[in-house]
Amino acid sequence: MQSKGIHHITAISGDPQQGLDFYAGVLGLRFTKKTINHDDPYTYHLYFSNGDASPGTHITFFPWEGSPKGEIGSGQVGITIYAIPKGALKFWKQRLKRFDIPYSLDHRFNETYLAFEDPDGLKIELVEHERGPNSDWKVDDITPDVAIKGFAGAVLYSANPKSTTWLLKKTLGFRQEDESEDMWRLEATGEFGHTVDVLKTPPKRGTIGVGTVHHIAFRASDNLEHEEARTAFTAENYHVTPFIDRKYFRSIYVRECGYILLEVATDGPGFDVDEPKDKLAHTLTLPEGYERHRQKIADHLKALDVRDAYVNYEIH
Ligand code: ZN
Repeated sequence: MQSKGIHHITAISGDPQQGLDFYAGVLGLRFTKKTINHDDPYTYHLYFSNGDASPGTHITFFPWEGSPKGEIGSGQVGITIYAIPKGALKFWKQRLKRFDIPYSLDHRFNETYLAFEDPDGLKIELVEHERGPNSDWKVDDITPDVAIKGFAGAVLYSANPKSTTWLLKKTLGFRQEDESEDMWRLEATGEFGHTVDVLKTPPKRGTIGVGTVHHIAFRASDNLEHEEARTAFTAENYHVTPFIDRKYFRSIYVRECGYILLEVATDGPGFDVDEPKDKLAHTLTLPEGYERHRQKIADHLKALDVRDAYVNYEIH
C-alpha cells in the first residue's frame, strides 16, 4: 500500500454561513458539495476544494453551531497546510490584511509558512509549492496564478509521535524524508497533500469541538489498495471499521496510537456521481435512503446564502 497522501481533512465548524464565506469567499476555494453528515443527518457536511474537485484538495466541515469550542492539542491534526503557487505569498499577505485577518510567518524545513486562523480558530497555513497544478477557479481577484492549489500537508499532534510516524510508514507507505528539531517529516507521492509532519513533543491533549479537526483521510487509489490498507492496519492489531460507502468515496476508519482519527478513502467514484461536474454544490445532495426525508432534513438545516462565485466558474 502506497498512499498518495491526504484525501481530505474534516473539521468541526460553528456557523455554516461564516465558514462558507471564509473558505469560498476569502480563501477562494470552490464550494463543491452541500450534503449531510451520513452519521448525523440533521447536520451539514460542506466540502471545499480546488476547481477540479481533485482528491487531496478537500477540506470538509461538520458545522456544530452553538456547540462549545474545542481545544487544539494532541490526538488531532494541529495545522492544515495549503499549497499556493510560487510567488503568491505576497498576494495572500495583502488579502489577509484586507480582511483584517492576523497572520504570522513561520519557517520550517527551508520553507516559509503564512500562518493564520479561520473564524473558528482552526490553524491554517499557506506555503509556496511547485508541486501540483494551479487551481482553475476564480473568486474576486484570486486568479489561478495565486489561487490555493490544494493541500500541501498537515502537522499531526500525536500523543505518541514516534509510534504514529512508524505506523504511517508501515501501513500507508509514507517515507521519512526529513527531520527538524521539533518535527519528523513524512512524504507520500501525490501532487497534493503529500507531506505529513509529526510534532515530536505532544502538546496537551486536545478536546474535540468547534475549531478543531475531526479526522484526516488518506488516499487509496482504488478498492484493491483500500483493502491493502485495511489489512495493513489489522495486521498491526488495530480495530478498523468495515468498508463504508460514503457515496463520493469508500472509507475505513481507525483510531491510531496517538489518538488521531484516521480515515482511508478511495479516490473514486468522485464528486460528480449526483451532480454534473460544473454544477457541484448547486443542490442539497443526500446519501442513499435519505431522499424520502429530504423535506424534513432541509427544513432542519440553516439556509445558506451561496454567492454565485462560490459555485459557478466566472468567465472573464
Ligand atoms: Zn472523512
